[in-house]
Amino acid sequence: MSEMRDVVIVGGGLVGGLTALLLAQGGVQATVLDAAPILDQNRVLAVANPRVLALSQASIHLLKTVNVWEQIARLMPYTGMQVWNKNGYGEINFGHASEHIPSAEQWLGAMVEPSLLNLAVQQEMLAQVHDYRTQVQVVRVERGVDCWIIQLADGTELKTRLLIGADGANSFVREQAFIDLDVLDYQQAGLTCAIKTVQPHHHVARQLFLDTGPLAFLPMASLRPEENKHWISIVWTLPDDYADEYAALDDQAFTQLLTRESQHMLGEVLAATSRAKFPLKARAAKQYVQDGLALIGDAAHVIHPLAGQGVNIGCLDAAVLCDVLLHDRKRGVWAHEQSLKRYEHSRKSQNEAMMHAMSAIGWVERSDFFPWVWARNTALKLVENQSVLKDAFMQQANGLNALQSTRYAL
Ligand SMILES: Cc1cc2nc3c(=O)[nH]c(=O)nc-3n(C[C@H](O)[C@H](O)[C@H](O)COP(=O)(O)OP(=O)(O)OC[C@H]3O[C@@H](n4cnc5c(N)ncnc54)[C@H](O)[C@@H]3O)c2cc1C
Repeated sequence: MSEMRDVVIVGGGLVGGLTALLLAQGGVQATVLDAAPILDQNRVLAVANPRVLALSQASIHLLKTVNVWEQIARLMPYTGMQVWNKNGYGEINFGHASEHIPSAEQWLGAMVEPSLLNLAVQQEMLAQVHDYRTQVQVVRVERGVDCWIIQLADGTELKTRLLIGADGANSFVREQAFIDLDVLDYQQAGLTCAIKTVQPHHHVARQLFLDTGPLAFLPMASLRPEENKHWISIVWTLPDDYADEYAALDDQAFTQLLTRESQHMLGEVLAATSRAKFPLKARAAKQYVQDGLALIGDAAHVIHPLAGQGVNIGCLDAAVLCDVLLHDRKRGVWAHEQSLKRYEHSRKSQNEAMMHAMSAIGWVERSDFFPWVWARNTALKLVENQSVLKDAFMQQANGLNALQSTRYAL
């Protein structure tokens, strides 16, 4: 007979790992089950990932809280954001450009390669989480009497009072719990790669709305620090057929196309690494919680990457859920139905608002219909000219408001 655990987390990516570490810090040890192996540090450090995650101030604060932030080997702060339309006059700017390495107070956030982030999370979990199992295959999850039963491929059976599904967009936990999903297929793909440009990025994240969709230029750290100012990770949202076509171009044709399509925003594109394509679908779980179960991160929601918020809202899920659970623990209860409902109530409406905003922007921005073109230009100009509106946008983007009522408030 397996002993009853307080909490099992399926998925030890950034969101599941952060949850385990926040709980450990609050005196609760979780069992963490992850399908992925332990990363080879030397290999991860030696290879530049073509994709970066734009981490908000709230995510950075949470990662500092659990000692992960200091272990991230390469990152690139950004101090400004610029968004504009190809076919219009609308433009919006946040923060400012910085020619020199910016001080921490100037940061709007930081770009980090996912592999480096996962490495840092894994290292801290190995130090702090006593029962952290990797390369584990969960084959069955079912509701028992007052517990969830998890069966692993090697026959092991675990029982837990609380099961947290942090197992990503194709969550097995969500599927096994029969939680329905709303799916919106954008029929678009995100084409990503790292590029080198003639002009320096000056720590500004740029997004240009083209007829086909948004093209993001995100400053990234280089393997060669002397080239740090010139490396960019792109996320190019394209209709599926364009993404296939652009992914198949040879390097020279691709860099020429990108120089042209980016309106020479940082001059000529000199080099591009190999390209990767990600199909884009929004997904929203209809419930985040059931009796003794909670979904967090991409298991609960996947949003369009255009705002670079996917993992950031997952980190906020982790913080709110841990806050609720640690509050329970203090009261002598655990994963109470009302507490889990409080987590769902707090996060679901905010995540869905973000998801709908991204879907609407994605749709409006692709439209040639004159009123929409007018509306998007006017909206960008309106926000650009109103400091109150800009501040409201920044508050939403930096995520700090969502932490305000938790023990992790800054
Ligand atoms: C092109 C693109 C660009 C993006 N850019 C940004 C950005 O700039 N900023 C941002 O915030 N977000 C961005 N995102 C979104 C971000 O990548 C995701 O939101 C984030 O990785 C989700 O983290 P997670 O921990 O919830 O899930 P994942 O990172 O998917 O982790 C899930 C974990 O669960 C494990 N797992 C899965 N199934 C099982 C199983 N059955 N048993 C055990 N373990 C399992 C996996 O091994 C993995 O470790 C982007 C996404 C895309 C596609």
